[in-house]
Amino acid sequence: MLQDIKPQIYHNEFYIKTPQAKDYFFYIKEGKSLIKNDKTAFPFASFGEFTDAQPDICAHADFLFSISRHDFYLVNEQALPLSEGNGYTFAPPTVFRTLSPAWAGFAGATGCHLHRFYRNRAYCGRCGHKMEKKQDERALLCPVCHNVEYPKISPGIIVAITDGDRILLTRYAGRANPHYALVAGYNEIGETLEETVHREVMEEVGLKVKNLRYYKNQPWAFSDSLLIGFFAELDGSAEIHRDASELASAEWYARKDMPHNTLDISLTHEMIYMFRNGLLPS
Ligand SMILES: [Zn+2]
Repeated sequence: MLQDIKPQIYHNEFYIKTPQAKDYFFYIKEGKSLIKNDKTAFPFASFGEFTDAQPDICAHADFLFSISRHDFYLVNEQALPLSEGNGYTFAPPTVFRTLSPAWAGFAGATGCHLHRFYRNRAYCGRCGHKMEKKQDERALLCPVCHNVEYPKISPGIIVAITDGDRILLTRYAGRANPHYALVAGYNEIGETLEETVHREVMEEVGLKVKNLRYYKNQPWAFSDSLLIGFFAELDGSAEIHRDASELASAEWYARKDMPHNTLDISLTHEMIYMFRNGLLPS
């Protein structure tokens, strides 16, 4: 999965640091990230490459996290204009699914997640004053009313519904050439994750489930989410009542007839793979 970056190690301890020439930075404009054109090179820019053209670039950078011994910063795109060219282009977040090395994709997606937090919480939701970066933790603080905002992480469930030797696979509506997926949805206020599973299964496919078993979870920066995967067994009728506004299809597939997904970074893919190959935990 995207976050499985061994032997690299993700360190998210909060520090305030000054960038060094070898350190990397993310630069994100209108949702797109500055990426090297040369696919054989490490995809992100280092400060050393830009200090001649932009001598004050380090003054507009905030430390985000480290991966092993590589430090990653975010350069404020509103304070410093950088453009395409000189070996760089702006790429949409889908690029993080295919970067080499793969752990750079995890770094980039996580950097975008933090960038959205800083941009979307630039002003206090309580009094409207400009927020400031907190000096002792990864948060924003309103200097007037002292409101504190933390990075947005929305929990959502994924559920693989099984019925003996078959599994329910879906495809989301409104996406071109969508991959096969599982029933999924966001946790609502006041719900336990198990209640979210039961509600989403009923809403999306009109089924009841039992014997919920937690499988794994996955930070999914593309939607500011933490995804929590469950396996569950069909309870009662197998007749599907599909919510056509959410799903383009929802069908039972016998294990031997299951389509092959090509996406290999997601928890959804791993859960489908585990079922197809009979590797489910008991
Ligand atoms: Zn305020």
